[in-house]
Amino acid sequence: MKPIVAVIGRPNVGKSTFFNRVTKSKNALVDNFPGVTRDRNFGDAVWDDVEFTLVDTGGFSDDDEDVFAGHIRSQIHQAIEDADAVIMILDGKGGISPYDSDLISILRLVKKPVLYAVNKIDGEGHEKYMYDFYSLGIENPYPVSAEHGYGIRDFLDDLIKVLPSSPAGEKDDMVRIAVAGRPNAGKSSLINRILGQERHVVSDIPGTTRDAIDSICRVNGKDYCLIDTAGIRRKGKVSLKLEKFSIIKALRSLDRCDIALIVLDAGKGVTDQDITIAGYAYERGCGCILLLNKWDLIEKDAGTAKRFNEELKNQAKFLNFAPSLTISALTGQRVNKIFGLVEDVYKQFSTRIGTGQLNRIMETALARNEPPMHNGKRLKFYYTTQVSEKPPAFVCFVNFPDAVHFSYKRYLINQLREGTGLTKTPIRLIFRQRT
Ligand code: GDP
Ligand code: GDP
Repeated sequence: MKPIVAVIGRPNVGKSTFFNRVTKSKNALVDNFPGVTRDRNFGDAVWDDVEFTLVDTGGFSDDDEDVFAGHIRSQIHQAIEDADAVIMILDGKGGISPYDSDLISILRLVKKPVLYAVNKIDGEGHEKYMYDFYSLGIENPYPVSAEHGYGIRDFLDDLIKVLPSSPAGEKDDMVRIAVAGRPNAGKSSLINRILGQERHVVSDIPGTTRDAIDSICRVNGKDYCLIDTAGIRRKGKVSLKLEKFSIIKALRSLDRCDIALIVLDAGKGVTDQDITIAGYAYERGCGCILLLNKWDLIEKDAGTAKRFNEELKNQAKFLNFAPSLTISALTGQRVNKIFGLVEDVYKQFSTRIGTGQLNRIMETALARNEPPMHNGKRLKFYYTTQVSEKPPAFVCFVNFPDAVHFSYKRYLINQLREGTGLTKTPIRLIFRQRT
């Protein structure tokens, strides 16, 4: 599990420029599927072999709080609550704004590492703009230029020193399940139903982060770990209206899971936020099951479930391998079917396919539909092998990896799915140069 670092600051100080610079070149294992990356506010980064995830919290707006001050407040609160460290970006060109001072006074109370970067210091000659910022009384503000790279190395050197070292690997061989979805979709109802109806609740076990509590439940004689149940069930502290969707919380539990149960409110249809959450699960490489909840509220005829599923598949094309199920957490309808699906998906998710079988499938696929020419040269696919599981990832050696068109890649992925029977799990296909 990687530490999560929140990037905060006023609009236009350079948060996304900073974000892009630091996370650049770290997505080799992520498929570039159209539609997945449109809400990209988080990215993995590595510096000096230390991995972390950067979250640009500025990208998250609240529907009900459109005023700027409100944005800042919710941003900072989420960052404080959820991240492992915080980077506040200031604008070395624009100077200090009253909002900066407000933010800093809140950050002073934070008991986790906070680093201040004064951005747009585009070289030594600009260091004079730093003077003002010393007057803010912050410890060690770093001069940086997100755009040109000045000062970034020193900054990152110090950042990784203050990050918590990753917790010891999670030992157990239980299937780990995360429940994700937007507020009010029915996550806590579902968890309570699962934990309540199964009499063999073993115990609550402390999770790896400060206040994550995982629960173990036993279904059909098998133990499952439900991730961060406390975070989802804890209610009443904040009123429902104030409850914010926390991307950091969602990422954290998705990072730790094998299978994500993505809960949607069927009464609301499929919303953008649902698709965004599904996109995170997809990018994290989780096995996914889509649960259309509150099915008891839907007026139905024979074709209703089919129409819902089609809408879902249509909007979340990148997840078209994920099984879906209509349920009611309230009445318990079909909740007992969830674990059967979890077993199906997990089996595929953790599978290894033999190299012989893989290459037979690839040969047939290549013969059936020849790869297109590249600059007058023929693409050659040499050899494919599985490099990891959870989810299954395959490396295919090619003479010109960059020349494989995404539509041809999609064709090969589909052929691999068909040939191996891996129809319900995400799979990765990575092309590598063979010289
Ligand atoms: P955000 O709203 O905080 O995400 O800010 P952006 O990253 O979108 O940057 C806002 C503007 O500041 C853009 O026009 C950037 O090109 C500019 N900018 C960002 N970083 C730097 C920098 O290091 N130096 C200079 N001179 N401009 C920068
Ligand atoms: P969460 O924010 O995702 O954890 O959602 P909750 O579990 O708190 O549910 C939000 C609201 O939807 C509550 O009033 C629940 O009683 C209600 N709810 C949850 N599941 C169902 C369901 O299957 N059917 C109906 N009718 N209501 C539900």
